[in-house]
Amino acid sequence: MVTTAHRKHGAHAATVPPDALDASVLERVGNTPLVKLEALGRGLGSSIHIKLESENPGGSIKDRTALSMVRAAERSGELKPGATIVESTSGNTGIGLALIGRLTGHPVVVVTGDTISSEKLAALHSYGARVILTDWSAPSESPENARAVAARVVEGTPGAWRPMQFDNPANPLAHYRTTGPEIWEQTGGAVTHFVAGIGTGGTISGNGRYLKERVAKERPGGHVEVVGADPYGSAYSGGHPGEILVDGVGNSWPAAEWPKIFDRSIVDRFLRIPNDEVYTVVHRLLDEEGLSLGPSSGLTVAAALRVARAAPHGSVVVAIAPDAGTNYLSKAFNPQWLAENHIRLAVDIVPGE
Ligand code: PMP
Repeated sequence: MVTTAHRKHGAHAATVPPDALDASVLERVGNTPLVKLEALGRGLGSSIHIKLESENPGGSIKDRTALSMVRAAERSGELKPGATIVESTSGNTGIGLALIGRLTGHPVVVVTGDTISSEKLAALHSYGARVILTDWSAPSESPENARAVAARVVEGTPGAWRPMQFDNPANPLAHYRTTGPEIWEQTGGAVTHFVAGIGTGGTISGNGRYLKERVAKERPGGHVEVVGADPYGSAYSGGHPGEILVDGVGNSWPAAEWPKIFDRSIVDRFLRIPNDEVYTVVHRLLDEEGLSLGPSSGLTVAAALRVARAAPHGSVVVAIAPDAGTNYLSKAFNPQWLAENHIRLAVDIVPGE
């Protein structure tokens, strides 16, 4: 641990103010790298770049959302010092909240699904969150539904605050204010296509709006096409609602129950990607690019490959990679899980040692 005494006598004592050291983790949310896919993108005539959100301190894009919602609630007075944060989440928002809660003095209760990966569950526990597992497929009218359970926990916890990421404007605003501007700067304003999956819709709505507004200002007559990558089983792309095998994205609810913050008008088109293609791309990313990423990254990159193949020569396609493959070693990288879920890879898995 760096103490004040160490700092005073340390090599950088004269140049690094103590506050900068204390604030380092929360200030490291965002400013993630944009990486060009050299191998997968070869010979397409257009380039594919992925925004590596696994580089956030809590390991996913949802650190941005969690921090944005917590800060907005602190400012508005909804979240009082020391009050408990309660949220229903498929996992990553919970991890972001648990990390931020720990650093800002808020206990965190995460209501999540029984399908959560063992790695994400371990991460939640390691940050000290209380975790309640629910039946993730329970319909909204069921008392077992995660959101209903979260509402009951809030009722029973004095002063508790619930971010409500599905309704909270600070969710898409995180992307409008940070991720979108970063993508614009990192591509030198050359981005032509933006691809994201949709869970709450915060990522696609915030980035999509920012990039469209910016292109209208700076490249008159230009256009950024916003593409929603959707898994099988999700209703967002008009598909038949069913089991969704890509964590964090898609939903099987009727349109009337879609998240309030999801701005459907921002999405120019949807691409529905079969599970086999999603998981094949997850493995190709690791084998050919050395990138260990989660299934929702396989989803967006699979969609980006389709987009880049059909786009005008020289297009610049940006896809969001929400989190790392290490969260899914027991699922995406486990041959038994893949077989149980009838997922067939079009590539051979490199055998483990
Ligand atoms: N991928 C993963 C792994 C996620 O956890 C989430 C958030 N649920 C998303 C993608 C989708 O992001 P958003 O909620 O901003 O639509």
